[in-house]
Amino acid sequence: MPEGQIRKRPTPDEIWSALCEVRDECYPMLKMGNVRIEISDRLKKVAAKVCWIPSEDRFVVTVSGRYFDEFGWHHELSEVLKHEIIHIARPRAGHSKIFAAERDRLGAIGYCRSPGDRKKKLLLECQNDTCSWIYSSLERDPCPKCGENGRVVGTVEE
Ligand SMILES: [Zn+2]
Ligand SMILES: [Zn+2]
Repeated sequence: MPEGQIRKRPTPDEIWSALCEVRDECYPMLKMGNVRIEISDRLKKVAAKVCWIPSEDRFVVTVSGRYFDEFGWHHELSEVLKHEIIHIARPRAGHSKIFAAERDRLGAIGYCRSPGDRKKKLLLECQNDTCSWIYSSLERDPCPKCGENGRVVGTVEE
């Protein structure tokens, strides 16, 4: 199918399948059962981000609905997923030299294309047991749902 042909938003399952194709190409041994996809309209500054919770060995890839509505769900998405799969395969690397070496080896793009602030975000879990909301924040902000404090449970890479 020619580029630009797909205008309709894929489902999270379809994006997961697209990510598996990128995995097959880049990291065939990498397991994907612990990776979940979310589409968000609130994510505006970057095309996608990867949240990692080491204690649960779990990843959540959040994909910006608005970004890909604008730039396309075909070629652009696979380019961005190729960047994000490195964060899944090398969750501790951040955007370090290790990341750069993998990026160059795989021919992935450097950063997501839209400009955003590159400050490191924390992944927090709300301490309120009935809430347990997972959220990201630059500071140790309280839970946006219930106001309880959160504890740091992982990292966020964009
Ligand atoms: Zn909460
Ligand atoms: Zn990144």
